[in-house]
Amino acid sequence: MTRWKFPPNLKLPGVQPFPPAEICIYCILLLFRFLLLLRIRKKESKMPEKILDDISHRRYNPLRGTWLLVSPHRTKRPWQGQQESPSKSTLPEYDPACYLCPGNKRASGDTNPKYESTFVFVNDYSAVKEVQKEYKQEDDANDLSSLLLKAESVTGKCYVLTFAPSHNLTLADLSIPEILPVIQAWTAIYTAHLSPHSPLSAITHPTTLPPSGITITPPTAQYRWMQIFENKGAAMGCSNPHPHGQIWTTTGLPDEAAQELEQMKKYRLEHGSSLLGDYAKLEMEKRERVVFENAAFVVVVPWWATWPFEVMLISKGHKRALVDFGDEEKRDLAEVIGEVTRRYDNLFETSFPYSSGIHQAPLEGTDEEIEASHFHMHFYPPLLRSATVRKFLVGYELMAEPQRDITPEQAAGRLRDCGGPLYRKLL
Ligand SMILES: [Zn+2]
Ligand SMILES: [Zn+2]
Repeated sequence: MTRWKFPPNLKLPGVQPFPPAEICIYCILLLFRFLLLLRIRKKESKMPEKILDDISHRRYNPLRGTWLLVSPHRTKRPWQGQQESPSKSTLPEYDPACYLCPGNKRASGDTNPKYESTFVFVNDYSAVKEVQKEYKQEDDANDLSSLLLKAESVTGKCYVLTFAPSHNLTLADLSIPEILPVIQAWTAIYTAHLSPHSPLSAITHPTTLPPSGITITPPTAQYRWMQIFENKGAAMGCSNPHPHGQIWTTTGLPDEAAQELEQMKKYRLEHGSSLLGDYAKLEMEKRERVVFENAAFVVVVPWWATWPFEVMLISKGHKRALVDFGDEEKRDLAEVIGEVTRRYDNLFETSFPYSSGIHQAPLEGTDEEIEASHFHMHFYPPLLRSATVRKFLVGYELMAEPQRDITPEQAAGRLRDCGGPLYRKLL
């Protein structure tokens, strides 16, 4: 800094020319710098998360009660972006060899109807049987086999639900009115399996939406859990590109659902509120990991996301299951599903593979379990840097705990930036 000097020949009447004026200016400058530093420090102390952009750290997943290792310093290299040219679907609209296309024959010998929106059938290769031989393990506390070689019988029913009659479409290609029948079908199938003892079974919303056209033969037994999910893309092991999802119902509560339900129950008991309701509020306040939101839902890359572009779609209100949603909320759900899948495809200009699934109240459960449930959807996509560079959960992740490089905040920023029309509609 150049020292400011009072011009030697300047003489003002009654003014001391040199020391007082200079000291005064220095004092003001010093005070200004001090205040500025104080402001920055104050801001930093309010955002301790900022430091996490640069240091290796672990993040806690309160929904599962597990931890994840984050290594953001490994992403300091500039983003390479996608390296492949944008891919366009080369699939036909109708495939005579596809067991899901309208009018085609399936392995069971049944013929699919010429459906116009969605179609549901009992999986010809179900993972669980509806009827089977009884099995009950001998329970002897002194026997090593009953201690270490445990097994229990599981029965259930598995369905396949097509999302559209066209073989070459995905959820990303569908409009809100085209996704709505899928949500209506999920709701109808969930309702048909609800325990008559569940407080949810009494809920009926007046609807103006078109009927789902789904008729479900009531199951022979009361199942505990319904897992609605979609496996999309060969990278996720999906053998048929026809847009479809699956619905498995089982007598037992699967591990992933049980773990989350336990955490949500514990949180409700300790804090008197919904874990995911509180989390959604916090994310909307911070806005660092929010990708998209509408009146009923918020889409975030969770604080604890394992997969690079994992997102969670959370109901803003405390909705326990699909049956809690009215028409407007179902429209909002269709909108967020469309937004997530389109943004995924736009990110690397490819048909983005993922596994997605709904977590909601169990079909049969205690009042405590049903009240602690909070409707949400997970999307777990494997892609990392381009249409072909994927993340594997291997090595440290199999032996120790999951790990990620790109932070959830960076991933959310990238997904926020790729909204708008589906890239392949512009090709
Ligand atoms: Zn097909
Ligand atoms: Zn969940």
